[in-house]
Amino acid sequence: MEMKFEPIGLPGVDPQRPFIITGPCSAESEEQVMETARSIANNGIKIFRAGIWKPRTKPGGFEGVGEIGLQWLKRVKKETGMYVSTEVATRDHVFAALKAGIDVLWIGARTTVNPFAVQEIADALKGVDIPILIKNPVNPDLELWIGAIERIYSAGLHRLGVIHRGFSSYDKKIYRNLPLWHIPIELRRRLPNLPIFCDPSHIGGKRELIAPLSQQAMDLSFDGLIIESHCNPDCAWSDKDQQITPDVLDYVLNLLVIRDVVQTTENLSELRRQIDGIDEQLLELLAKRMRISREIGVYKKEHNMPVLQSSRYSEILDKRSIIGEAMELSTDFVKDILTEIHEESVRQQMIIMGNER
Ligand code: PEP
Ligand code: MN
Repeated sequence: MEMKFEPIGLPGVDPQRPFIITGPCSAESEEQVMETARSIANNGIKIFRAGIWKPRTKPGGFEGVGEIGLQWLKRVKKETGMYVSTEVATRDHVFAALKAGIDVLWIGARTTVNPFAVQEIADALKGVDIPILIKNPVNPDLELWIGAIERIYSAGLHRLGVIHRGFSSYDKKIYRNLPLWHIPIELRRRLPNLPIFCDPSHIGGKRELIAPLSQQAMDLSFDGLIIESHCNPDCAWSDKDQQITPDVLDYVLNLLVIRDVVQTTENLSELRRQIDGIDEQLLELLAKRMRISREIGVYKKEHNMPVLQSSRYSEILDKRSIIGEAMELSTDFVKDILTEIHEESVRQQMIIMGNER
């Protein structure tokens, strides 16, 4: 489906990277919302976030303050002049948020996974002109993410953006949610004009990962960041390990290095020329390898030998992985490449044998 996105376009918000949205994971009390918002506004931030309805993994956790929180967001807007944003997951959330004059809505990761829920939100938004940010689904499924974008777009909302918040995995190691950067990178390739935000709070799940993940997102030319900040993170009612104070956030943002998106420097073109040359050599070598492989095919045919000799294949994989490792190439990478090459070799030998696959 062809989509033509429009800029998120909030008057007074600098279109320069990075576009910043920040505020607490959850609105907890009017005081906590106002205190956090005042510090954020004092640091020059233009868009405030706070969750009002919180989807929790298990019942019994803090599930959000509900509609009363919308009144606190209205107060933030009135007293600080910031735009305000919150998460919506149902038709009723959409109606309540629109009624309260919320400026930007986002769809959470647990909602994006469900096409029925996304469609319900899209239907509720029909004919409304408001920016919507769509978080990636919890599972690493790019098509499902694009499907959600298409549903909202088809309802007539074209001021869209996406939020990369990482993907669930069974074993948690460094990250709360694996970044799997290749997924948002592929999304950028498929939908080049769609702004991408990174949510380092939910990817990392830890305060100390916010700065490095934000830098990585900037180095990958993401457009913005949505970061959780709280006036008293240690006492936050949800996601306390991944929230920082507005002042720490200010410090983190000031340290970010924003590199030009269009890289035209002479150095880079020189390096790219080298890469082009190496790729050509790789292809020539592959072609040469296949020629030899076909000769082996002819020999096998003449001597009535089978194409596949698995002991030879295992030997190739093992020996090459050791060599690769010594050259700083990961074992998995070497194995993947050799598996592909071997597959093609077998295919070409099968042709020679007369058993085309
Ligand atoms: C949130 O932004 O607080 C949230 C619930 O995020 P996610 O949908 O990414 O888990
Ligand atoms: Mn959160």
